[in-house]
Amino acid sequence: MMLQLKFDPKTVKKPIISLATLEASALLNIIRASVGPREGELVVEVEEGKAEKVVEVLKSYGVEVHSIKKAVERDEEKCVHCGACISICPVEAIGFDDEKRVVVNTTKCIHCGSCVNVCPMKALALP
Ligand code: SF4
Ligand code: SF4
Repeated sequence: MMLQLKFDPKTVKKPIISLATLEASALLNIIRASVGPREGELVVEVEEGKAEKVVEVLKSYGVEVHSIKKAVERDEEKCVHCGACISICPVEAIGFDDEKRVVVNTTKCIHCGSCVNVCPMKALALP
């Protein structure tokens, strides 16, 4: 299961991922991390069956937790099918169909955000 974590770095100073791993006895895979002076945001993948406990632990340390169910979204109107997003995807979730049109395999997407940053048309977004 994929979780989005948001926190204020000024108030949440503890190693939240390590604490969640230890206290929930769960493996967490960090997919995306962005920590600035005012806001921290992480996307983590949690092993099956451990999400509830992980959420409980993170919330106890002041972290806002949201589950992510949707994959990256492509705007058909903006996309010019240049393929720039295909090679950057670490899990091969984007490819060409038989008509050389770009398609996203939503079940493979791990929400890393890499494709969003390279798209010259701003046609990709993470919900
Ligand atoms: S990089 Fe953007 S414009 Fe190019 S194929 Fe991907 S979504 Fe379409
Ligand atoms: S967000 Fe990451 S995993 Fe998902 S399609 Fe884009 S590059 Fe691939």
